[in-house]
Amino acid sequence: METEPLKISKIEVDRDACIGAAPCVMVAPGVFKLDGENKAVVADAHGADVATILLAAQTCPVQAISLYDENGDRIYPV
Ligand code: SF4
Repeated sequence: METEPLKISKIEVDRDACIGAAPCVMVAPGVFKLDGENKAVVADAHGADVATILLAAQTCPVQAISLYDENGDRIYPV
């Protein structure tokens, strides 16, 4: 039986937690960018594939990035 590919419906950045370290921007420049306050914002939630977005979230040193699937369940951090 094949499993459905994981889909990400929502990406959240905790601005209070974000320290502007920017690995998320390096891993997924099509998705994240730094704003004028050096905080990551989501430029395009569909700017990379799921694996890349997950990797970007995992590289955040303060786990400021949360990912949610289509059902609204948080898939990262778990
Ligand atoms: S990796 Fe985390 S701390 Fe760094 S800019 Fe991205 S969200 Fe902010």
